[in-house]
Amino acid sequence: MNATTYTLIDIKGFRPVAAADSGECDRCGTICPKERVLMAAVDADGVVRKDMTESWGKCCAAAYCYGSKSKANRDRVSSAVAEFQRNEQAQHDQWMRRIATDSTFVYTNVRYTASGYAIKDESVIDLGCVLGACNRKYSATGLPVQGSIAMINDQGHMVRTAGDRPQEREFYASKGFKVWTR
Ligand SMILES: [Zn+2]
Repeated sequence: MNATTYTLIDIKGFRPVAAADSGECDRCGTICPKERVLMAAVDADGVVRKDMTESWGKCCAAAYCYGSKSKANRDRVSSAVAEFQRNEQAQHDQWMRRIATDSTFVYTNVRYTASGYAIKDESVIDLGCVLGACNRKYSATGLPVQGSIAMINDQGHMVRTAGDRPQEREFYASKGFKVWTR
């Protein structure tokens, strides 16, 4: 049976996420004299949908986000792009650290001496299987293993993703992971 499912996405607004190529502005339809910026839709859950983007002139983006297309507001658009990219990079780094590549789980303890120095101790537990290490890493993020979805790549590396966050699975899929089935 072939069934097609349509999902209606409730768009709350747009936010600037990256620089874009020049060309017509998708907002006003003209060739804005200023640079283009990629505006991503933000859905009702506040999730930035990088699969749903438009290319706007920076003037239009400034007017939309901050009320006018002044130079100061155009600069705020550029700062917002830079901030989005820093956060996204930090998020991706965090996601990469969640991948278990062997059966060990490494954790770091930080102690402070009386004179104010920090001492880092690293401890390694061998959990005997990659899935165990993957579960441990996932639990360390504070998210419940129950309801999560495990993924695996060709090398047998494993990672868990939050069941209700498809963007995590999109990220790991882009790194070669597939949903794991026992
Ligand atoms: Zn425009």
